[in-house]
Amino acid sequence: MSSVTAAPVSQALARLVADTQATLARIAADFTPAVFASSLAAEDMVLTDLILKSKLPIGIFTLETGRLHAETVGMLETIRQTYGYDVAPFRPDPAAVDAYVAGNGLNAFYDSVDMRKECCRIRKVEPLKRALAGNRAWITGQRRAQSTTRAGLDVQEQDAAHDMVKFNPLADWSETDVWDYIRANDVPYNPLHDSGYPSIGCEPCTRAIQPGEDVRAGRWWWENPDSKECGLHVVDGKLIRIKSAGVSGALASPLTVPPADPVVDGTPV
Ligand code: SF4
Repeated sequence: MSSVTAAPVSQALARLVADTQATLARIAADFTPAVFASSLAAEDMVLTDLILKSKLPIGIFTLETGRLHAETVGMLETIRQTYGYDVAPFRPDPAAVDAYVAGNGLNAFYDSVDMRKECCRIRKVEPLKRALAGNRAWITGQRRAQSTTRAGLDVQEQDAAHDMVKFNPLADWSETDVWDYIRANDVPYNPLHDSGYPSIGCEPCTRAIQPGEDVRAGRWWWENPDSKECGLHVVDGKLIRIKSAGVSGALASPLTVPPADPVVDGTPV
């Protein structure tokens, strides 16, 4: 691994960066082939910067749902120009999109949680499965502090839904840590972050938030906070609790989840 010219602004951040670099290096050494699912948001740009500057053999993809903001899609070109790297876009099956729109309407996800989950299934869950196929591990930029549904997040988990190890190298990072790293290292970021969007998903399902609101309050804002995930870890209609795993990993088990139960969806967007 080549060294990264990071310039952390505090010893605490330097330790976080070193730990994250060690995690990424361990993934590259022990879990190849591994892929990073980038939503192209701030956290994911930190990981993109660390992976590409270290020249780690970890592929980077994004779920191009067809409903992203132009600014988010524009990050693909920004990454290409900054790092000389082409992030692989995974798109939904056009026939499935057409059937959903024809049967329910383009924006039927506003009608019910089930309609929203079906749209996410078509535009995110199925493409994610394709993107992960053949890999031993995947990586996300999720952080524990992002929402109630991510409070139980661990750096390493066993993802039963995809039958592979899932890493969240930024689980311990705060929002301040993310932005301190971005500023100290001149990392490019989605301009929507400067317009009240701390969390960015699909355009019709993301709104700007007010100061003091939860960072994910702008995601699916019309729904209950405990249902604000993409269903990427739903198996046979049951939510899956992802248990933390040691090196050998621990199996997750299907369970009936009350709304307040910590559930990790694994969504990269
Ligand atoms: S976030 Fe909204 S538009 Fe995007 S896949 Fe989910 S329901 Fe569909």
